Amino acid sequence: IPEYKVVMLGSGGVGKSMITTRYINGNFTEEYDPTIEDSYRKRCEVDDNACFLEILDTAGQEEYIALRDYHIRGGDCFVIVYSITNKGTLEEAEHIAEKIYQTKQTDEVPIVLVGNKCDRESERQVSMEDGKRVAKKIRSGFYEASAKTGVKVDSIFTQCVRRIKHH
Ligand code: GDP
Ligand code: MG
Repeated sequence: IPEYKVVMLGSGGVGKSMITTRYINGNFTEEYDPTIEDSYRKRCEVDDNACFLEILDTAGQEEYIALRDYHIRGGDCFVIVYSITNKGTLEEAEHIAEKIYQTKQTDEVPIVLVGNKCDRESERQVSMEDGKRVAKKIRSGFYEASAKTGVKVDSIFTQCVRRIKHH
């Protein structure tokens, strides 16, 4: 069974850990230590093929830690998360994608851009169109998701596997 490494990236507080926890355990916890960096393994079935995903949930000072070259070089797919309630986090997502392309030295990298916290519609600062525009620019997949309600969380990881395979 093949095993793929997925790296969760994005500004602090956007919901990387909650998306990971939701996918791994199927639940949502309001509080998660923002300094914990850990990896999780899950078997998944995509298009009738089984695989294992090893998901690295990065934390801390992303620019200095998560974006270290070894994190990027070791990743097969990258989930870049922003929050639809914070415009600055989408800008950061774009910078992260640039760094990935620089490090991988190729113009084809499996990336899924995720606008998280879509349950907080009344606090929205980033339109769906803005998210899609950035996804197109960075040549990534795109979902608006919510770790809280679980909407589109499984789709993120299914999309990762498909992108890795068609890479
Ligand atoms: P990280 O720093 O990117 O790992 O962010 P966390 O996963 O720790 O989440 C930061 C905060 O946002 C926590 O208070 C979470 O409860 C909250 N949060 C994360 N995802 C969602 C979501 O989809 N909806 C809502 N309403 N809150 C969320
Ligand atoms: Mg975290």
